[in-house]
Amino acid sequence: MAAVSKLSTRLIHHPYKPPEGFEALQPAVHKASTVIFPSVQALRSQEWKDKSGYTYGLHGTPTTFTLEERIATIEGGHYCVLAPSGLSALSLVDMAFLRQGDELLMPDNAYGPGKTFAAGELAGWGITHRYFDAQSPADLAAKITPATRLVWLEAAGSITMEYPDIPALVAVVKAANAGRERAIVTALDNTWGAGIAFNAFELGVDVSMQALTKYPSGGADVLMGSVVTQDEALHQQLLMCHMRLGLGVGANDVELVLRGLPSMSLRYQAQDASTRTLAAWMAQQPGVAVVLHPALASSPGHAAWQRDATAAACLFSVVFHENIAQVQVDAFCDRLKLFRLGWSWAGPISLCAPYNVSAIRTAGWPHRGGLVRFAVGLEAVEDLQADLAQALAALDLPRS
Ligand SMILES: *Cc1c(COP(=O)(O)O)cnc(C)c1O
Repeated sequence: MAAVSKLSTRLIHHPYKPPEGFEALQPAVHKASTVIFPSVQALRSQEWKDKSGYTYGLHGTPTTFTLEERIATIEGGHYCVLAPSGLSALSLVDMAFLRQGDELLMPDNAYGPGKTFAAGELAGWGITHRYFDAQSPADLAAKITPATRLVWLEAAGSITMEYPDIPALVAVVKAANAGRERAIVTALDNTWGAGIAFNAFELGVDVSMQALTKYPSGGADVLMGSVVTQDEALHQQLLMCHMRLGLGVGANDVELVLRGLPSMSLRYQAQDASTRTLAAWMAQQPGVAVVLHPALASSPGHAAWQRDATAAACLFSVVFHENIAQVQVDAFCDRLKLFRLGWSWAGPISLCAPYNVSAIRTAGWPHRGGLVRFAVGLEAVEDLQADLAQALAALDLPRS
């Protein structure tokens, strides 16, 4: 240290090293753009792709490697890459597997912004997309062509909560893959299941994408996404695309997600129980035409959910009778006090949002009444039910 005397230099080149053998529950937050190499030889030979070393902040730090391994483990996969949001994880999958001339098939009830990415960006790159009815493996089979390269799946479907027969849809793709040079990849948006309700890989999907924004974080205060695979070749394709795009996640955000993981399973179960209570109660109320939640027999795909899943997430949707005007549905949402108005979910606070389903489905939608999607938080279920009751009581129901 003799040559180093100025304070500004000593603040950077100091002899302090954190103690070895310091074990704590929460991993350290390692932040780096630059990673320092001990020698030119190390600089030339360090490998980041197999996690045997560190080369550059974007290629991973001990903190991001820790979260990747934990998400892969939770989902029953082997490899994971992290993206700055759920949506960027979704578009990463599209960009890693699709090239000019390819076609993407998506369920009609897929997460909306993923559809928007296909229409607004992929289309301009010469990649076409079509929608299939996720409740009909025959419809998927009919829509697969030689150009099909990627099939998205989502369980349950966004907003309308249809639960697909994932093994049957995967079987359609596997049959189409027989004799193909480039196999069609199946990718599941697993945000709803979170690796808790079912094991996506046991159901046969190739790629599982998740918005860590939702359950893994649990705090409604961080955005992040993940893409998990069991297959090494698929992972390498994702990893190289991820690296070329320069996608990175902030260490403090990773820390927030790591902090949420230990309580994730308990939160999932508690929110599941409250959601089922409220969904069943809402189904009994005057003015309600149907409640959509896979645990209800009235909800499309109930049998597949019962067979393939052990739990359900905190979402349900209510379709009001068609003789209740949209302004009344809007006023109902405005009257709720504990359920706040907002889009995201799986955080501590309960949320609701009205949707115009006819505008977001290309295929038919059988209901005419207004739909409200509820996301149940961690409040006491009695209080949430009372909140729904007071807002329903003020609904000016037409006499039948
Ligand atoms: C929220 C969500 C996403 C996107 O996650 P963001 O982190 O908000 O970008 C993707 N898919 C589903 C099903 C979601 O609910």
